[in-house]
This record gives sequence, C-alpha cells and structure tokens, in this order.
Amino acid sequence: MIDKALQSIVDELYGEMVKTGRAIFDHPETGLMEYESSKRLSGILKREGFDVQVGLGSLPTAFKATKKGGDEAPHIAFLAEYDALPEVGHGCGHNLVGTGAVFAAVALTRLLPEFKGRVSVIGTPAEEDKGGKIILLEEGFFDDVDIALMAHPSSINQIGRGGRAITSLTIKYEGKQAHSANPSRGINALSAVIQTFNGIDANFQRFPRDVNTNGIILEGGTADNIIPGYASCRFSVRGATKADVETAVSGIRDIVASVEVLTGAEARIGEELIYAERYPNMEMEERYGAYLSDLGETVTKADPEGRFGSSDIGNISLAMPAMHPYFSVTDSAEPPLAHTVEYGEMCNSDRAYEGLKKNVIALASLGRDLLADDQFRASVLNEFKGIRRKI
Ligand SMILES: [Zn+2]
Ligand SMILES: [Zn+2]
Repeated sequence: MIDKALQSIVDELYGEMVKTGRAIFDHPETGLMEYESSKRLSGILKREGFDVQVGLGSLPTAFKATKKGGDEAPHIAFLAEYDALPEVGHGCGHNLVGTGAVFAAVALTRLLPEFKGRVSVIGTPAEEDKGGKIILLEEGFFDDVDIALMAHPSSINQIGRGGRAITSLTIKYEGKQAHSANPSRGINALSAVIQTFNGIDANFQRFPRDVNTNGIILEGGTADNIIPGYASCRFSVRGATKADVETAVSGIRDIVASVEVLTGAEARIGEELIYAERYPNMEMEERYGAYLSDLGETVTKADPEGRFGSSDIGNISLAMPAMHPYFSVTDSAEPPLAHTVEYGEMCNSDRAYEGLKKNVIALASLGRDLLADDQFRASVLNEFKGIRRKI
C-alpha cells in the first residue's frame, strides 16, 4: 500500500520536481558535458543534507550524494542519468530519469528521518554512448553499494525487460598511397577495409548464435586516381551476453590480423566498452510495478527472453541486484519512437510529469521496503545470487 505520508511529501515536492525536469530538458547536455545538469541535481541533495561529491574519478560530471542512517548497511543507490543526445536533445527522456532518482531519494529520506543503512544518488553520466556506469563501476564507485535502482520513461509501464550486450569497434588501416596507374607501388587500405567486411560475412558461423554486426565505412580514399593509403571502418557488435560479444570481438581481431597479412596494410583497432546484457531483479521490479498499480496504472510484463536495446545498467546488474523498469509518460496510442525530438517533447509534457510523480512514489516506496523489510531485501539479494550462479 502507498504510504499517505509519502504521498503528501511528494505532493509538496511536485512543483520543484517539474521545474527541475524542465530546466534539464531546456539545457540539454550530451555525454560527459552535463556540468549544469549534474550541478542542479546534486545541489538539491546537498540542500537536503546529503554528503555530496561532484566529479568522480575520471568523470567530472558524475556525482555521489549519500545520506547515512544508523548503520553502514544496507546501502541502496538511486541512479540518475541526465545526458542528452546530439541534435535531438532529451530525445531519450533522461531529464526524467535524473529528476526521478533525486526526488525519490529526497522523498524517501524525508519519510524516514531515521533509518538503518545508507541512501545514495549516483549521478551516472553519458549513458547513451560512453558507458558512464561501466567506468564508475570499474573505478570502484559502486564497491560499497548493495542495490541499485532506476526507472526510465516510456510509452507504457513495463517491468521485466532485459537488454542485450553491445560494443563498437573502429578499425583504421594504414597502407601506402600510390598513383592508380601504378597500384603495385602502393598498399591499398580500402581493399583492407573491404576484406574486413567480407571476412566478417564469411566467418559469421564462428560467432555465437544471436550475435549481429553492422558496419559502415568511415573513410575510403579521396580520389579514384589515387590508391588509398588510409581507410577506416566501424562496426557495432550485439549479442545475448557480454561473453558472446567478447567472443565475436576476438573473432574480428583474428579477421583483421589475416587482412593485414593479405594486404600488407597495418591495422589499429579501437575497442569501446562493452555494455553488458541486463538482468532485471524481478523481486524489485514486481514490487515497483505493484506500487504503480496501486496508483492506478496498468503495468505490463515483458517476455523475460525478449531482450531489446542496450544500456550500461546491464554491467551494474552483473555486479549487484539492479532494476530498470519503465514508467508511462503518455496516453497516446501511437507514441513516438525513442531518440527523436517528438519523444523528447513527450517526456517534457504535463502528462509526463504526472507519470514522473507516480514513478517517484513507487521508487521511494521500494526504497523504504529495501531499508526496512529485512525479509524482502534478503529475497532481492537471493535472486541476484541465483543469477550470478547461472552466468
Ligand atoms: Zn537512449
Ligand atoms: Zn535512455
């Protein structure tokens, strides 16, 4: 059941919540440039008495804000995203993700002035393309966290959706320029790129099932009477799991090595971070969905095998119980697609902030259960242990 006191706390916060979400929307900042958004969100937590550190490790726009209760454990963290996309601004609605995380933590700590454990908000920049959460995880900023919570705006309320693993590679070939009348004097870097595409196509059988790649040529020469001395290409590699993507990437490395032998061009491979597959903690997502239902929402459950899309919360879900359900911000039967201007407008509408309010109540209620209900917390941790055993 929804706590009446919590509901009135969120009512009180609602005006500031809308103002914050709109301010972030109106000043979209792309990955690792989110200085204003990070300052705005962490500033609210500072005012609420959280210990705030802005700038974590190599990420100046990350932050960690913590309020300590009567003990060190359990430590629950709400994850705030606030990066925008180039050209379409907040076309993924992260103005609502960050605002939701911050106000859920504020509401929870106002509801429970005394509690056992720690409540944090971790500001995780650059979800869209640079994997801020993966970097924070690798640099140790999640080491003391037990459970991670976040929710993302959508056109429906949905729990239980997983995600696929993904990475990208850029391959640069250095050959030798020559006059096209004298091709044997040169080393054709474009041929190396073309053979890379052919090599990946021809060797696809060795990749794990469900892996898919897509490639583009970035540079392939400048004039048809010059043998290209330099060429480059880029591939995305998606798979069911991080391990599958690692296997495919290793296969691509072998293909590139063989292309070097065949063409004489020298390759440099730039490998990006791997966004891992996502394991939604169903104990938490079911409870979150039940709170949304209490608030009058219709909640759907995704096919557990139907993984779609990728996010850096996946890597967190391999390290601790984590959740990433979706809350509805529209009543439209034909909602726009994510990563568009229209999707952004949907995430800044009056209706969107009504959805955000319900999300904040559901997140804060779940946070209260995790802090106060030892049995529930044990079942959340137990589910995670089961997932770890399977991986
Ligand atoms: Zn996105
Ligand atoms: Zn997003």
